[in-house]
Amino acid sequence: MNRALPAGVFGPEDYGKAVKLDVGVLVIGSGAGGGVIAAELAEAGYDVVVVEEGPWARTEDFRPEARRTIQTLYRDGGASMSIGNPPVIFSEGRVVGGSTVINGGMSWRTPDAILERWVRDDGIEHGDPTSMAPYFERVEHFINVAYQDPESASRDNELLKEGADKLNWKVIPNLRNQNHCAGTNNCAWGCPTGAKQSVLVTYVPRALRFGARIYTGIRVDRLTFDGTRATGIEGRVVGGGSVSIRARAVIVACGAIQTPVLLKRSGLRSASGRIGTDLSLHPNTKVQALFDDDVDGWKGVHQGYQVREFQEEGVLFAAVNLPPGILAMTAPHFGRDLLDLMTNYNKVLNAGLLLEDESTGRVRVGPGGIPLPFYSLSHRDAERLVNATLTLCELLFTAGARKIAAPFDGTEELKGPDDVKRLRGYRVKRSALELFTVHMMGTARMGNDPKRHVCDSWGKVYGAEGLWVSDASLFPSPIGVNPMETIMALSTRNARRLIETRGLA
Ligand SMILES: Cc1cc2nc3c(=O)[nH]c(=O)nc-3n(C[C@H](O)[C@H](O)[C@H](O)COP(=O)(O)OP(=O)(O)OC[C@H]3O[C@@H](n4cnc5c(N)ncnc54)[C@H](O)[C@@H]3O)c2cc1C
Ligand code: SF4
Repeated sequence: MNRALPAGVFGPEDYGKAVKLDVGVLVIGSGAGGGVIAAELAEAGYDVVVVEEGPWARTEDFRPEARRTIQTLYRDGGASMSIGNPPVIFSEGRVVGGSTVINGGMSWRTPDAILERWVRDDGIEHGDPTSMAPYFERVEHFINVAYQDPESASRDNELLKEGADKLNWKVIPNLRNQNHCAGTNNCAWGCPTGAKQSVLVTYVPRALRFGARIYTGIRVDRLTFDGTRATGIEGRVVGGGSVSIRARAVIVACGAIQTPVLLKRSGLRSASGRIGTDLSLHPNTKVQALFDDDVDGWKGVHQGYQVREFQEEGVLFAAVNLPPGILAMTAPHFGRDLLDLMTNYNKVLNAGLLLEDESTGRVRVGPGGIPLPFYSLSHRDAERLVNATLTLCELLFTAGARKIAAPFDGTEELKGPDDVKRLRGYRVKRSALELFTVHMMGTARMGNDPKRHVCDSWGKVYGAEGLWVSDASLFPSPIGVNPMETIMALSTRNARRLIETRGLA
């Protein structure tokens, strides 16, 4: 995939035995946080170099081949896991553009109530909704946040909406970063039409246009320091070769799992003791509902709508089609039941929910320096999750589902609303829940108190000079909606602050 790299982008084939550089601003990671801050700083005239562990990828190479994509664009084959009760499977992108290349494209501002809470409880400076509005607007302009063209709608989403409408529940069309999305339902394997405005096709070209350079296939092992001042990084070329880069300023944007581990591997201590703690996951769970007629979930964009009726309780519902291979691998069925499910693939509506979690976990440094995330769902969150899943089943039966497989190990298929009622009183063990997530947040929290927070309100790491964080790690709490736009707006805001205060000089 790493062919014909654009000007300013380098790959392992360009490196000799060792990479040695002396740069102005070094950004580690090129995803929602890193890509945005790199472009903003390059535009302001800084000498910006981005190092990215993943490869350069091209729109024309993206295909609906889940297996191949998972190997090339995802970390660890897309199936990392946090240890706990229950374990939670999670996915991270590892490619130029980070997880935005493989994400669903849902683009939502941080809810006002969350921003207000961050200001109140964490002392975030200029973080209120009015102060944040210009940064959201700037991001929305560059990634083209818009409603879908009607032609891209899919039947599974229409059914979800019909069910919600019948119950008089609030359901809204999703805002997505897309430009005339054709509804190919390939977002998680890279958008083959270029419609999805990921960082790869927006901020990365912008950063290059303003002179930034991107070094792909480089894994950063540790940050280097002179006393408390960050002076650069040491790492290695994926596939062999050493890397040493000196920088006047270092910005870590490796995502909420990798960032805290990189800080810890580098020997950084925080007076807060909270590097890697406060991990939030927005746990997701999903159900497969079988309909009498074809649903054809693969024809049209996924998550066309979000059911927001229970947002204040921290719960969102959406329809998410899964390709056959992934459905077969993750459905709770086996034997004859699995055969039946797959034979009826076109009649299956796969729907999921997101929970704004109160539980938190932590990321430790595991053997060989790899991240080892621990996270257990609290009993209260488990109860909320089971109830929300049953409420989702109620909606799907209202929409016409004939039977539903719930993600609780050991329960029978649900045949109708009476089964939903019966299960309401059933105590599902946490270990029987099947959870996954793509929203990892909060492991280097920002705030005004060095004893409680790892970074200040603008992402600068307390106790270190010349070192900032710019990714999902900064969130002081989960946000209850899809996080990409929040990360991008915070990175834009933090870049502006650095430019205006000459913080990098
Ligand atoms: C399948 C999927 C679907 C999603 N859907 C949505 C959605 O619809 N809407 C939404 O808002 N959010 C969605 N998300 C979440 C969203 O994409 C992420 O929250 C966001 O991209 C995280 O931004 P980040 O900058 O923290 O990290 P990332 O975007 O993950 O970028 C981190 C980058 O750092 C690189 N890196 C890590 N460690 C190192 C190292 N040591 N050296 C060099 N490079 C390193 C990684 O390779 C990666 O490219 C989804 C995520 C996934 C995986
Ligand atoms: S559904 Fe739209 S955004 Fe997603 S891959 Fe297809 S064209 Fe791209």
